[in-house]
Amino acid sequence: MNWSLRKTIILLSILLVVIALLIFRQPLAEAAGDFYERYFRKPSIGMEALDSGSLSLKEVSIDEVYANPDLFGFNESMLLVNKTNKVGKEDSFDIIYYKDTDVPMNRAIVSDYSKFSAAVLDACGEKMFVMSSVRSFEEQDQLFKEDPEVAAPPGESEHHTGLALDVYAYQFAGPGFLDSPVGKFVQKNCADFGFIIRYPEGKEGLTGFSYEPWHIRYVGFPHSLYISDHRITLEEYFDRFEFDRYYRIDSYLVSRQEGPSLWIPENYDWISVSPDNTGSFFVTIKDTL
Ligand SMILES: [Zn+2]
Repeated sequence: MNWSLRKTIILLSILLVVIALLIFRQPLAEAAGDFYERYFRKPSIGMEALDSGSLSLKEVSIDEVYANPDLFGFNESMLLVNKTNKVGKEDSFDIIYYKDTDVPMNRAIVSDYSKFSAAVLDACGEKMFVMSSVRSFEEQDQLFKEDPEVAAPPGESEHHTGLALDVYAYQFAGPGFLDSPVGKFVQKNCADFGFIIRYPEGKEGLTGFSYEPWHIRYVGFPHSLYISDHRITLEEYFDRFEFDRYYRIDSYLVSRQEGPSLWIPENYDWISVSPDNTGSFFVTIKDTL
């Protein structure tokens, strides 16, 4: 074979590979695009960094917050749990039973889950059920051993905190959840009730998990609205905060602070202070406007 023929063959092979890649990549890109069109909303709320001078803030020590949890709206809604931010076997969380059931959940999510669940029944005419909520280290270890591809190792699962729920509709669980009206409603509207789809399609590289339409995670307002509107993950949301700076998001002021003292606005209608499992805290207030 002469050199120019060999070169032509090599070039043709490269061209074929490129064409094949383009053909196979396209449907994947479209599928992710469809997902966003179907399940996320158009960005409607922004995030505006505020000048610290424009706010009237008071210094409150973390100890003071711990000593007066109700006064400062102390809760655990903003805990980040993933491969790099684990929880320990000895860590305990604020877990209570949902209404008069035997389903344990984090105290932070009970009230909004109740509203969400009622809205699902109202819109779809059928119930949303909880398959899995709080998991112990032993239970997570068992799941991880059974299916290390899908389940997180113990310590790396949000289920330890009681902030995540695996939900389903009658006869529609797992990936099939999306084929049910309840599954579709949950994807589209969970943010209105403080929940996010924690492992969205197309974000596998960031979350370490494939798309899980059934795994909903509570973060509360305005976080769920911003995350859903801007099509980002909880990890990406955390990265948008410069420490100790206040941001206006919707009608809320939000800041991520390192402590040991927190700077809290003097006046507000509602407040939430939550640790974030990275050593810092989220302070969220609803403006008096
Ligand atoms: Zn889950």
